[in-house]
Amino acid sequence: MSSGIEGKVVLITGASSGIGAETARYLAGRGAAVAVAARNEQALDAVVADIASAGGTARAYALDVTDKARVDAVVTEVISHFGRLDVLVNNAGIMPIRPMSEVNTDEWDAMIDVNLKGTLYGIAAALPHFLAQQSGHIVNLGSVAGLKVFAPGGTVYSGTKFAVRAISEGLRQEVGDRIRVTSIEPGAVDSNLKHTTSGTAAEAVQAFYERAVPAASVARAIAFAIEQPDDVDVNEIVLRPTSQDF
Ligand code: NDP
Repeated sequence: MSSGIEGKVVLITGASSGIGAETARYLAGRGAAVAVAARNEQALDAVVADIASAGGTARAYALDVTDKARVDAVVTEVISHFGRLDVLVNNAGIMPIRPMSEVNTDEWDAMIDVNLKGTLYGIAAALPHFLAQQSGHIVNLGSVAGLKVFAPGGTVYSGTKFAVRAISEGLRQEVGDRIRVTSIEPGAVDSNLKHTTSGTAAEAVQAFYERAVPAASVARAIAFAIEQPDDVDVNEIVLRPTSQDF
């Protein structure tokens, strides 16, 4: 894998909005070929059109990260379209905040399926290719809620993000001599994520996001990890709005 961003093939899950879409635009602007994947195909097409009109290279892939076979198929399709894959950004995520006492197992299942299993399915699909080519970079979207428990309300969300951080670190220990692994842990970022909370905590979540930073802040952090020379693996980046305490 070459150093820098120019010419790298980057697959980003959850790239139809927020951090994923902004990262796709930013990396494409820096010369990467980006594969953008998510469920909302219309939104993906708009991201691809933005990138194309700015002279960049991008292609859209319909993807539900809870569908293991489809995650595998998308990785295969990206390699077939672009000739290889250099970086996978496991970014798709949801955050329905609700106190545990309101017991909502559908939301718990959904967070585990998307945030945790979706990330694992991405690793499962990309890792054999990265091992075969003896290079590759997996970037996982954790959260500050994966460093501190976000309670009340974000307990299960935190559980998924603590797990993503643990898996990132374990993966690094296992294959880090050949494959780079980065965990990105943002605080409040302005995106659609806050709207995935619809229950009793919705107002508190909106208030928490009043001081959110733009998604471009995270795109730059991801680019920083990717652009390092081959012999440098940025393992973790924690970034918060300057005024954020949590
Ligand atoms: P957005 O809601 O703006 O974006 C989330 C993306 O995930 C969308 O593109 C959505 O696309 C996609 N997604 C959701 N479910 C699925 C699924 N089943 N299959 C494929 N894609 C899916 O939120 P953000 O950009 O903020 O979130 C991106 C990541 O950053 C998440 O992992 C989040 O936990 C993390 N993060 C965000 C923070 C924030 O404050 N915003 C802070 C810390 C971490 P579609 O609906 O089209 O499938």
